[in-house]
Amino acid sequence: MVEKNKHYKIKITGVSSDGNGVCKVDGFTVFVPMTVTGDMGEIVIVKVLSKYAIGRMLDITTPSPIRRDPKCPVFKRCGGCHLQHIKYENQLEIKGGFIEDAMQRIGGFENLKCDEIIGMENPYRYRNKCIFPVGTDRNGELVSGFYASRSHDIIAIDDCMAGILENEKIVKAVKEYMEETGVMPYNEKNHTGLVRRVFIRDGRASGEIMVVVSVNGKKIPQKEKLVSRLTAVSDKIVSIYININETRTNNVLGMENKLIYGKAEIEDTLLGIKFKISPHSFYQINPYMTEKLYGKALEYANITDKDNVLDVYCGIGTISLAAAKSAKHVTGIEIVEQAVRDAKSNAKNNNISNADFFADSAENAVPKLIEGGMKPDIVILDPPRKGSDEATLRAIAKAQPKRIVYVSCNASTLARDAKHLSSLGYTPTAVTGVDMFPNTCHVETIVLLQNRNM
Ligand code: SAH
Repeated sequence: MVEKNKHYKIKITGVSSDGNGVCKVDGFTVFVPMTVTGDMGEIVIVKVLSKYAIGRMLDITTPSPIRRDPKCPVFKRCGGCHLQHIKYENQLEIKGGFIEDAMQRIGGFENLKCDEIIGMENPYRYRNKCIFPVGTDRNGELVSGFYASRSHDIIAIDDCMAGILENEKIVKAVKEYMEETGVMPYNEKNHTGLVRRVFIRDGRASGEIMVVVSVNGKKIPQKEKLVSRLTAVSDKIVSIYININETRTNNVLGMENKLIYGKAEIEDTLLGIKFKISPHSFYQINPYMTEKLYGKALEYANITDKDNVLDVYCGIGTISLAAAKSAKHVTGIEIVEQAVRDAKSNAKNNNISNADFFADSAENAVPKLIEGGMKPDIVILDPPRKGSDEATLRAIAKAQPKRIVYVSCNASTLARDAKHLSSLGYTPTAVTGVDMFPNTCHVETIVLLQNRNM
């Protein structure tokens, strides 16, 4: 029996989908963070639960051949990049394994393999959105950075290698403004102080940067000082907001934004289509890989000018508008009203007239549209992490589209839904992984499901 505080000599035999090394001690599963398949060494057990235990590596006697030194100085403390200690080509292989494992174990598709895992040439500095919490350290000094793994302690670092180089200067400028004006950082324990987070977003194609400072209040003092410090950082900063977040929650942004400088939106281009992005819009965070993701999804969809396409969970219409170029007509469904307004104006700005968008939940809208006679030839699904639902999937299958292309950032819920679609007459015939989030344990998956009646 595995015992807490006891030491064991182990060999790591796999990596779990949340990025921890896995080994067995006397047949019992132990997860060991920051290790990788092939590592041998001594661990101490830090926690024992009924089905598994958690260990900490004390000494790696033989490092795995696929291990490398992580580039980031705070890798061990930050909870962001779980796989940074693994060579990039092996990260891709491991992520392919996550997808196949989910499709086989949860989906029950025994022989389904990933056709391909599309990786990045340079897997750093890809994120177009970074959020830096602001607070004080143990000595009362103003700090910003990232939350430590499973905690709300801020690890002081103004640069993140997944984000753009400007982030560091922007975060410093906000702190300088705070020091100059005596504005205090937010203290979540007693709900006092003002500045909570610095949220930075960029349009990679346009170069434009948006800075949103979220505050526990309705305004900030001497906002012109904040604006002048930020605009001095880079002339790429074209939009500055204050976000009002007076709640006691962990929500990154409150509901209300106040523009204090420049444009309300920044612009980006994907597959030749221009998109306007506002602070609350959902927008894929890796612009280099988004084009590859959508490109692959459209390849699987294989749309012709005779096809009506239904794009469920369409966000600001990114996939819909790319699909509209080759389709007869596209209908997009999305629950967030602002995103639907953005989708409509994105269509207009790009002179795309064969796409309609509806603000409603998928589970409500899809059955209604199909009952009402809509007959999509091709359906694209790109749900949030929790996946789709019974009512939506049932209605889609009832309409008998030729193909369903399912895009997902969570292989487990995708596998569950694919199993469901399989029981409704659709067979998954092709799978591709796209590494939207290099160095983290996340992976995007695209599955093509074909109608067995056609
Ligand atoms: N396809 C888009 C967005 C994908 S993210 C893109 O690639 O950019 C998933 C989207 O589903 C989000 O925009 C979210 O707001 C939306 N969403 C979440 N739950 C939903 C529901 N029940 N019905 C419809 N849309 C939903």
